[in-house]
Amino acid sequence: MATTPVSQELKRGGAFLVASTNPEDVFTPADLNDDQRLLGRTLEEFLAKEVIPHIPELEKHKEGLMPALVRRAGEMGLLGASIPEEYGGAALDKISMTVISEKLSVYPSFMVAFGASTGIGTIPLIYFGTEAQKKKYLPKIATGEWLSCYALSEPQAGSDALAARTRAVLSPDGKSWLLTGQKMWITSGAFSDVYIVFAKVDGEKFSCFIVNRNTPGFSIGAEENKMGIRGSSTVPLFFENAAIPKENLLHEVGRGHIVAFNTLNAGRFSLGASCVGGAKNVLAIAAKYAKERTAFGKPIAEFGLVKTKLGEMAIRTYALESMIYRTAGTIETAVASAGTDKVKQAMQALEEYAIESSISKVVGSETLDYCVDEAVQIFGGYGFHEDYPVARMYRDSRINRIFEGTNEINRLVIIQMLMKRAMSGALPLIPAAMKLADELLSGPSFEDAPIGGFAEEERSLAQSKKIFLLAAGAAVQKFRDQLANEQEIVGALANIVMDVYAIESSLRRAQKSAAAGAPSAVLMGDAARAFIYDAMDRVEKEARTALAAIVDGDTLTTQLAALRRLSKHAPVDMIALRRRVADGVLAQDRYPFDAR
Ligand SMILES: Cc1cc2nc3c(=O)[nH]c(=O)nc-3n(C[C@H](O)[C@H](O)[C@H](O)COP(=O)(O)OP(=O)(O)OC[C@H]3O[C@@H](n4cnc5c(N)ncnc54)[C@H](O)[C@@H]3O)c2cc1C
Repeated sequence: MATTPVSQELKRGGAFLVASTNPEDVFTPADLNDDQRLLGRTLEEFLAKEVIPHIPELEKHKEGLMPALVRRAGEMGLLGASIPEEYGGAALDKISMTVISEKLSVYPSFMVAFGASTGIGTIPLIYFGTEAQKKKYLPKIATGEWLSCYALSEPQAGSDALAARTRAVLSPDGKSWLLTGQKMWITSGAFSDVYIVFAKVDGEKFSCFIVNRNTPGFSIGAEENKMGIRGSSTVPLFFENAAIPKENLLHEVGRGHIVAFNTLNAGRFSLGASCVGGAKNVLAIAAKYAKERTAFGKPIAEFGLVKTKLGEMAIRTYALESMIYRTAGTIETAVASAGTDKVKQAMQALEEYAIESSISKVVGSETLDYCVDEAVQIFGGYGFHEDYPVARMYRDSRINRIFEGTNEINRLVIIQMLMKRAMSGALPLIPAAMKLADELLSGPSFEDAPIGGFAEEERSLAQSKKIFLLAAGAAVQKFRDQLANEQEIVGALANIVMDVYAIESSLRRAQKSAAAGAPSAVLMGDAARAFIYDAMDRVEKEARTALAAIVDGDTLTTQLAALRRLSKHAPVDMIALRRRVADGVLAQDRYPFDAR
């Protein structure tokens, strides 16, 4: 399939906080090529015909149905999407992979089962497998003959995965690894053929192994009784001196954390992408219901308090979608740049943009949770009934804030990585913070007010970056290398970072759309304006919370005065903006910015 990202200036991960980006350098859904659009439509049809009609049986774990449907996706070539062509895969570009995550998430249990095999269950083999391991496993995973899964978590070690207790010791004859311990919460564990399992060699060196289903000493526990994504399989795994061939070590002894964390970077981004699909789907369902349901003699869609929900759902989904496709474009550009070892480049790109991947995961899961919650409200009592789809969507959404690293862990990771890059000089955050301090000392400047259609939003974007530097600079100055212990401050800084990325992604897409004269450009401008207005209020509040915990007395007064100056923005009629966006949703019965 052709790979045609727009021309993008290569930038370091996290550089959006200090560098400026042009609209034409940002990939947007409007830039999808014909192949990627066709892929999207094919997936929509596949879901509609082959998966959605089976939801009631899937939710009840009908024996063999989910693996059969995942294998059906294999017949369409989808299971090998990320696998290089020489091992029987399709080696799709990152943007196509994003389209897949988005489209398949209309039924999250299917997306989770699909993602366990094609994503976290396969990526370790692609990036870290030996030639012999790749030849043995990847062609069979690509066709669906074998399904795979990823077993990192344990009953006592989830977020703190490196505290795993599962042990691996070399057998006395030196030919096998003997695994003993338990894994927990393993997606697709009930029906997989290949298990990527993490264990500590001699109880110390965290490592990764490939375990085949029929290994003696390896057994699979019963299905967990989950709140949501009930159609997916989640089981514990047990190992009692389970002997696997010595050559089934994946990567090196003591280097399992590299396998685990690189895999999670990829998983986090695709989770964010899947939330785009979920949010669009629930918005369409809520909009149709709001038009059909009448109260007080008219459709509830005509009530301002219902409209404002539909508008805000679309606005937040727009911001999420903008950042997801922008990130996909950035990663794809990095992978497609000069160099012959595409697998190595893909891994490096995922590591480089780990900050953006964590942002995608957190913003994606929280946006979807917001949307499903409002959809239940629009459905009223029927939203609380399992005969209507939004009840399941509400339950299905909740897991996204927990797996692939909880949102708390991802918030910590965002700031930890930014600080590491700032300290090493890889990201010029320190000089930027010093420049800001000089600027603030020299008093207000009246010279650089941008002009044009999005002048106010452009100003907000620049100021939001400065607000981050103001708060982060104060935090680093006070806590230095102890900042990680101040989790509430770190959380506030992470929230600002996420909003900065969302503001910029929303604005650049709206500007690009306006420049292209796209039919939805005006409405998109409304969505961007509304998002940015609210985001600026959040950014100011988070910075105020952080500063009040960092400094006091006269310093706090001075810092808060600077914050007030930076966060000043002209009033916007948010009610009118949300109404217009809601009308756009209702006119089309769906998310109004879809690239078809
Ligand atoms: C349906 C489902 C499917 C899953 N699929 C898989 C899978 O396929 N493979 C796999 O390996 N795992 C899987 N998991 C496990 C999942 O990744 C973990 O549940 C998750 O990482 C959280 O770990 P935990 O449940 O042990 O919670 P804990 O780590 O105990 O966390 C509990 C709470 O404490 C917070 N917390 C923990 N540490 C910190 C900290 N340092 N600072 C601040 N707050 C903190 C967390 O954010 C959370 O709110 C799955 C889980 C579920 C429920």
